[in-house]
Amino acid sequence: MTPSPHRLPVSLEFFPPKTPDGVDKLAAVRQKLYALQPAYCSVTYGAGGSTQDGTLQAVRAILAEGHDAAPHFSCIGASQDSIREKLQQFRQDGIRRLVALRGDLPSGYGGFGEFRHASDLVAFIRAETGDHFHIEVAAYPETHPQARSPEADLQAFATKVRAGADVAITQYFYNADAYFRFVDDVRRMGLDIPVIAGIMPITNSTQLMRFSDTCGAEIPRWIRSRLQAFGDDRDSIQAFGLDVVTQLCDRLRREGAPGFHFYTMNQATATTEICRRLGLAA
Ligand code: FAD
Repeated sequence: MTPSPHRLPVSLEFFPPKTPDGVDKLAAVRQKLYALQPAYCSVTYGAGGSTQDGTLQAVRAILAEGHDAAPHFSCIGASQDSIREKLQQFRQDGIRRLVALRGDLPSGYGGFGEFRHASDLVAFIRAETGDHFHIEVAAYPETHPQARSPEADLQAFATKVRAGADVAITQYFYNADAYFRFVDDVRRMGLDIPVIAGIMPITNSTQLMRFSDTCGAEIPRWIRSRLQAFGDDRDSIQAFGLDVVTQLCDRLRREGAPGFHFYTMNQATATTEICRRLGLAA
C-alpha cells in the first residue's frame, strides 16, 4: 500500500489492567506502540465500576513516559461534587485532555445520578474549568443502540458538540459508508468538529462478536461469515483481519478521515502492522 503524502494523526486506546502482571504487560505494549508516535493515548474508565483508579494510574504512567494521555471520564451515576473533585484531581496530575462520556451503568447499579447525558458532562466541565481541557466525545456512525432514532441521535450528538467538545471519536465500524454518511450529516448541521475514525483491529472473532453485540457496531455479513468459517484458525483470522482493517483505513484516509483512534485491546502487534502497511509507522 502506498504511504500517504501526509501522516494522519494516530491515537491509541488502552484499558486499565486488573493485575500487577497486566500493568507490566501494558507498559511493555506501550513501549512498542510509542514507535507510532501517537498524538496521545487514552485509557478507558469503568462507569460506576472498580477500574477508575486504574485509569488514573495508567494515565499517570503514560504522562511520565513523555506522552500525552487522556482519561476516559464517564458521568453516569455521578454527582456534581464527585465530578468536580475528579476534575480537580486531573488538573493536579497535569492532565489537559479528557474523553467525556455518559458511560453505561453496571447492572444492579442505581439511577442516572446528576448527569443524564454526555452533553451535561461536557457543559459542566466547560463551566467549571473553561478551556483547560481538550474534550473528546463519542460518535456513533451506525447510531447509538439506545437512541430513539438516527435523527434523535444526531441531534443529541450536536448538543454534545455545542456544549463544548473539541473532537469526536467514533465507535468502531467496518462499514466506511456509514462513517462518511455520518460526517455529511454532521456537516449539514453546521458542525465542523473533526470526526476521528475509531478502528478496532480484528484479532479474535469470538471477542469481536461479543463486543459488537453489546455496543451496536455492525459486523458486515461477509466479514462475519468469513470469520466463522475460520473456526479456531487464529492465523487465518489475524491475516484476514489485517487485510480488512488496513483496506478500511486506506479508504477512510483517501476520502478524508482526519485521524485514527485505535482500540488496541492492550495489544501491540495488529495496530503496529496496520500502521506499517499504511505507511503510518515511523
Ligand atoms: P451520550 O452522548 O449521552 O448518548 C447516550 C444515549 O443518549 C444516545 O442514545 C443518545 O442518542 C441519547 N442522548 C444523548 N443526549 C440526549 C438528549 N439531550 N436527549 C435525548 N437523548 C439523548 N464506556 C465506558 O463505560 N467507559 C469508557 O471508557 C468508554 N469509552 C468509550 C470511548 C469511545 C470512543 C466510545 C465511542 C464509547 C465509549 N464508551 C465507554 C461507551 C459509552 O459509554 C456508551 O456508548 C454509552 O452508552 C454512551 O455514552 P455517550 O457518551 O456516547 O453518551
